[in-house]
Amino acid sequence: MTNFYSQLDDAFVRKAGQPCLLCADGEDWSYADLRGYIGRAATVLKAQGVDPGDRVVAQVAKSKQNLALYLAVLRIGAIYVPLNTAYTVDELNYFIGDAEPKLFVGEVGRSDVASLTLDATGAGSFDGLVASAESCEAVEARDDADLAAILYTSGTTGRSKGAMLSHKNLSSNAVALSEAWDWQPNDVLMHALPIFHVHGLFIASHCALLNGTPMHWLPKFEPKAVVSALKESTIMMGVPTFYVRLLDTPEFRQLEVAHIRAFICGSAPLTSQVFDEWEEVTGHRILERYGMSETIINTSNPLDGLRVPSTVGFPLPGLELRIADDQGSPLAAHEVGTIEVRGENVFGGYWRMPEKTAEEIREDGFFITGDLGVVDDEGRVSIVGREKDLVISGGYNIYPKEVEGILDDMPEVLESAVIGVPHRDFGEVVVAVIVPTGREVVIADSDAALKDKLARFKQPKFVA
Ligand code: AMP
Repeated sequence: MTNFYSQLDDAFVRKAGQPCLLCADGEDWSYADLRGYIGRAATVLKAQGVDPGDRVVAQVAKSKQNLALYLAVLRIGAIYVPLNTAYTVDELNYFIGDAEPKLFVGEVGRSDVASLTLDATGAGSFDGLVASAESCEAVEARDDADLAAILYTSGTTGRSKGAMLSHKNLSSNAVALSEAWDWQPNDVLMHALPIFHVHGLFIASHCALLNGTPMHWLPKFEPKAVVSALKESTIMMGVPTFYVRLLDTPEFRQLEVAHIRAFICGSAPLTSQVFDEWEEVTGHRILERYGMSETIINTSNPLDGLRVPSTVGFPLPGLELRIADDQGSPLAAHEVGTIEVRGENVFGGYWRMPEKTAEEIREDGFFITGDLGVVDDEGRVSIVGREKDLVISGGYNIYPKEVEGILDDMPEVLESAVIGVPHRDFGEVVVAVIVPTGREVVIADSDAALKDKLARFKQPKFVA
């Protein structure tokens, strides 16, 4: 195997004249445009001193240039580290310190690391440098195990862990998904997911890029824009919140969607109520699948065949999945245990955290996902709970320990507990319960304390 980028590049050359990114501003990119930008961006990255194995941290709004930046990083053999745009400066400081990037691309420059902004003009503009750069045609040779990306996932101990994904992890999963979902030459993908997360960056984009598929490239999920893009799409991928919001959108309920061949959903549990209501309104059964930052995708409901609500389908070909007890011994069908997985999609470990890696990847190579599941007689998997203390809100993970840590540091707080409660739109939201040290009211203070330290989506919606 070589650099995963080479596999994508074959498709870019083959589909050069085909539209790639369809944008509401009318400035669409063809595959030739994408490839041209990547070549010039590779030159800029090299000129910035980025060598193979160096990290490039990006905290930027979704755009065409953002996708090309990621692909240029792969092309030169460096390691891409995307960050949620909602992270505060405090959170960003931690990631920069941990990843030690050669280059940071973000909204605001930093003094502690070489940095560029992505789309602003001026001396520090990546886009500006790309405009005047020559194209670099070489693709850096890579081995299967060489790292392509690090995805930070919140840590149970409060510190985020960087899941290290190799070129082989990315390529094997992209191929497996294209086959499982029977990607077609005339497919058009509705892409409204963020691309700092595994779902939008790897799952959705890779399937499309590997097949030279056009994507409706929406900067964010906005129901009316999605409805309009769906008129010309054949596949949609989204988190359950997308599906709930579309059901609440009158224009969507009137939309004819017979031409769409798959509505794919994951990153958080999809309730059977939403599954049923979706089928009633559209005539389609949502195709639910199960994945995570550490493994990209593990299981999927079938494209052809019965899709059962509240199940996540069957392991992808090449993935071994077992339901295990605490010792890693396999349990029988219908017994609840931890989902453990082994395969080419499974990450190599956590960046600079050998102890965490050893705790979560067994000696026989099985990764302990922390999700609780059960398998039926046919091998179909259902997720029935989580062993890890995790709340998923709108598809984003929140570890209560991280929020509790910040609340507990406040002098007014003796103790706190952060819990997830059900929410129709987000699936779950976090609520904090506080025991104050004195009689003072701490609710307003706690909001202020969290504001600069935690991304908004992690902040409790209610404090008592
Ligand atoms: P992330 O690393 O942010 O993608 O989060 C991964 C976690 O999301 C998994 O470990 C599961 O707990 C959860 N998850 C992903 N897909 C599903 C699904 N289809 N149903 C239930 N939980 C899911």
